[in-house]
Amino acid sequence: MNAQQILSKLVSYPVLGGQSNLSIMEFIKGYLEDHGVTYQLVPNEEGTKTSLHCRIGPAVDGGVILSGHTDVVPVKGQPWTTDPFELTDIGDDKLYARGSCDMKGFVACCLAALPDMVKAELKRPIYFAFSYDEEIGCLAAPELAAAINTGYEETPQYAIIGEPTMMQPVVGQKGICIFKTTVSGSEGHSSRIKQEVSAIHESMRLILWLEDKMNSLIAEGRTDDRFTPNHTSIHIGKISGGIAPNVIAQECSFFWDVRTIPGDTPEGIFEQFKAYCDEREEELRKIFPGFSISTETDHPSVPGLDTHHDQEVVGLVKELAAREDLGAVSYAAEAGQFADEGFEAVICGPGDIAQAHRANEFIHKAQLDEGVLFMHRLIEKLS
Ligand SMILES: [Zn+2]
Repeated sequence: MNAQQILSKLVSYPVLGGQSNLSIMEFIKGYLEDHGVTYQLVPNEEGTKTSLHCRIGPAVDGGVILSGHTDVVPVKGQPWTTDPFELTDIGDDKLYARGSCDMKGFVACCLAALPDMVKAELKRPIYFAFSYDEEIGCLAAPELAAAINTGYEETPQYAIIGEPTMMQPVVGQKGICIFKTTVSGSEGHSSRIKQEVSAIHESMRLILWLEDKMNSLIAEGRTDDRFTPNHTSIHIGKISGGIAPNVIAQECSFFWDVRTIPGDTPEGIFEQFKAYCDEREEELRKIFPGFSISTETDHPSVPGLDTHHDQEVVGLVKELAAREDLGAVSYAAEAGQFADEGFEAVICGPGDIAQAHRANEFIHKAQLDEGVLFMHRLIEKLS
């Protein structure tokens, strides 16, 4: 099967982030078996989802991991003009389907090149690392990367994460963490606002503190021009609280996300926020002793990526992609998690992130060809 045929199989499994991915993994497992490749699974506790990794080539150090995720984002409510789970060619050199670009296109390139990887006399190995639940917070990659680290006698050196970058090597990625803060105040008639503590009023103060924090980071010159925007962003995207206009709100909660440039961490910002919350608690408990502010992470934070241009993996990926320019992205991906596990990581894959997560997602056929070419250069390089 060529990359397009494999992609058309992969997109036909409508595996959304959070759902079981066993169906698409059955296809991938069967394909690997057909080519005589053995694999290891890294399932979740319930056995409803699994990551997969395998090695093609000799058990020697210095191999290259090719990483992709098998889940996609929902299509609900989006104005698709074709069936999102059927790869559709309308004759405009693009292939339409959910996941065509993000990022089953890359997985298809890996699988299409597999027969040649198996046939080649590889001197250093290639690994596939396919995960689940990337789209709901990169949940599976840490365990997968750790399993690869401990699961082989040899040590792989590089990881290429095939998120859509139009085949540009990407060496920087922002870290991300989502928090939920809940403020518990005291209820009462709205006229008693000075005698009670409104959870909404206090939430507003905390939210403005967060916005001020972001602005002060910028004012301090904590910027990195590889990213757009070039600073750590803090954003409040959802808030709920109160029951009526004339009732002081007993509870209010809000979600906020922090997207950090290298050098800043969500944990660092959280520590300072927590210190401010502690101050406010102490102050407001003088009015209402039961007052409290609590913050939890909505899901584990995803580390950023900060691969230096002189690291070997950068030279390797530039050569494979036949590109000299390096990029940075502001979206979350699994690259930082592979880097945390000790692999030199770069993001590079076919398709444009601008097409991801939207109605009528597509990948240019030429991008798919570029992806396959990349794989063949890799085979040549390691042979
Ligand atoms: Zn993706």
